[in-house]
Amino acid sequence: MTQILSPGSKIGIVGGGQLGRMLALAAAPLGFKIHIYTPDPNSPAAQVVSNVTIGEYDDIEAVGAFAASVDVVTYEFENIPAQSAIAAAVSAPVYPPIEALDTAQDRLTEKNYIHETAGVPVAPFHPVNNEFDAKRALKILDGKCVIKTRRMGYDGKGQVIAATEAEAMEGYKSLGSVPCIAEKFIPFDREVSVICARNTNGDLAAYPLIENEHRNHILYRSVCPAENDSGQAQTLALKILDALDYVGVLAVEFFQLADGSFLVNEIAPRVHNSGHWTQDAGCTSQFEMHIRAIAGWPLGDPYPKYKTEMINLLGGEASQWVDLSKDPAVKVHLYGKSDSRPGRKMGHYNRILPN
Ligand code: AMP
Repeated sequence: MTQILSPGSKIGIVGGGQLGRMLALAAAPLGFKIHIYTPDPNSPAAQVVSNVTIGEYDDIEAVGAFAASVDVVTYEFENIPAQSAIAAAVSAPVYPPIEALDTAQDRLTEKNYIHETAGVPVAPFHPVNNEFDAKRALKILDGKCVIKTRRMGYDGKGQVIAATEAEAMEGYKSLGSVPCIAEKFIPFDREVSVICARNTNGDLAAYPLIENEHRNHILYRSVCPAENDSGQAQTLALKILDALDYVGVLAVEFFQLADGSFLVNEIAPRVHNSGHWTQDAGCTSQFEMHIRAIAGWPLGDPYPKYKTEMINLLGGEASQWVDLSKDPAVKVHLYGKSDSRPGRKMGHYNRILPN
């Protein structure tokens, strides 16, 4: 029998960003008490809960003490040091499992795991540890590749496209000559993602296929259900969930090729920007789904009643809330960030589309 957390139990969330904020807001109606661990007392998540521990993510002692004060620990971004998660696990269960966190933190480990262990296709790749590797990778990967830092890359940061040997070698150096991975450049038809979940009991749920549009490497728009959802991507995503003995919400980003097949781009062991539409589509939101999964509750309903689009509000675009909030088909979600910078995710809106 797995432990089921009763209402009133304490859920600790490491991370104070908008994902932590939306997790906390989804946990409240289920009766849970949320504790946030963040270095920033004014972070988006800290603004909506009464229990906040201020500390650095690599302060193993402080994270350990935080974990000892709650019933379960989860996290809202994948760059918390695995050592901190291990320290937390001494006192409380940590979900998603630390192995998933560790796997997703390193693009090489991630690609190997998804391909070798889970048996799910990824873009052909090659490790790059010096500029000659970069040159070799270009040849092996058919003359055009994307070189990415193995760690800490997000929203297109820490990656360059190379189509010549000089670009590959210079590109590697421009990334700081840190350990990298080169991936074959994939001329995909579209980018899609699957948000899926597994609870402590092993029950599984997957939302319909989501189609994503990026601008300047940052997610701009997600629509669900996507056209032509064969269910194949969900089957692949659930294989990854199973391989990782996963608990919580997992996001799997794919490239879909012209022949309809899928290659995994990356996984995120957490709730994900491409799942924000779930808040207003008449299904269980990804945030509630994650809380249910880690609390051992039955999973909710992943099937939306309405076709919904999500559009991110970056930097000054957040001021559109004035007009957007007049539209009855639109729900505006703002993150409470006082410091607006170009490209910074300040909020998003969900719009119900005609069926
Ligand atoms: P990532 O940070 O890996 O999610 O990459 C950000 C974006 O860059 C992706 O959403 C794609 O639009 C593009 N991209 C990344 N890897 C590749 C690839 N191997 N081939 C083509 N485009 C890519």
